[in-house]
Amino acid sequence: MERFNNKVVVITGAGSGMGASSAQRFAQEGAKVVLVGRTQAKLDATLARLAPGDHLAVQADVAQREAVHQLAEKVLQHYGQVDVLVNNAGIHAQGKAHEASDETWKKVMSVDLDGVFYCIRAFMPALLKSRGNIINISSVSGLGGDWGMSIYNAAKGAITNFTRSLAMDYGADGVRVNAICPGFTFTDMTKDMKQNQAVLEKFYDRIPLGRAGEPEDVAAAIAFLASDDARYITGVNLPVDGGITAANGQPHL
Ligand code: NAD
Repeated sequence: MERFNNKVVVITGAGSGMGASSAQRFAQEGAKVVLVGRTQAKLDATLARLAPGDHLAVQADVAQREAVHQLAEKVLQHYGQVDVLVNNAGIHAQGKAHEASDETWKKVMSVDLDGVFYCIRAFMPALLKSRGNIINISSVSGLGGDWGMSIYNAAKGAITNFTRSLAMDYGADGVRVNAICPGFTFTDMTKDMKQNQAVLEKFYDRIPLGRAGEPEDVAAAIAFLASDDARYITGVNLPVDGGITAANGQPHL
């Protein structure tokens, strides 16, 4: 099944993890994929693993307004259209709010929030033309609180509600806007946790499906929401979390 034949899909943070995995998924399903990230070598490595096609790797820091503007110009010059934007680039911060520096706060907000805003603003004219759609990568941390991650929770919570309002504003124009809320997933972002058996056991105790997510689990859900199979779905924040958000918070007895 090739759901994305003749579609141009832009993915930020495509050099690793869920971004790289969804690039593979979209390419397998016929898309022309634009890989966006800060490190050319990582983008090239992802590019080399894609099913053959007219793909493009563009170095850009999504937190830089001008870089995103140039990215959109380059993509439109090359393809003349954009059908799907996956705002996946993100960073994480740990610790209590009163101990965090201005730099930590600003860095998380600049990538996780400004980056999403800049990309949506830059690509929306093309998406309005193609009646395309946007997938934001929020998090279960954008649906509820976590211990020790409040800055990340603030950023991802904003993405969750940004997604809902964008869906309302652009629905009549035929542009769908949805978000994926991954739970604990094995990627570069969680590589230290993967090495820590005690942490893993705590997670597995709370995940009904009993395992961490893999980037491919998330990529499959991204591809679904971006495809015409989801043509009547907009404004959702879909947990892809092994069931972790099914709980009401009471202890696992
Ligand atoms: P990852 O670190 O492998 O991927 C994030 C990518 O974004 C990296 O390639 C990184 O280089 C890139 N990036 C960071 N800042 C950037 C910038 N300014 N400009 C361009 N690219 C930038 O981790 P991942 O888990 O695949 O993360 C993907 C998304 O999933 C993130 O938004 C993250 O917050 C979210 N998420 C992850 C988990 C998890 O458990 N791994 C859970 C929920 C949500």
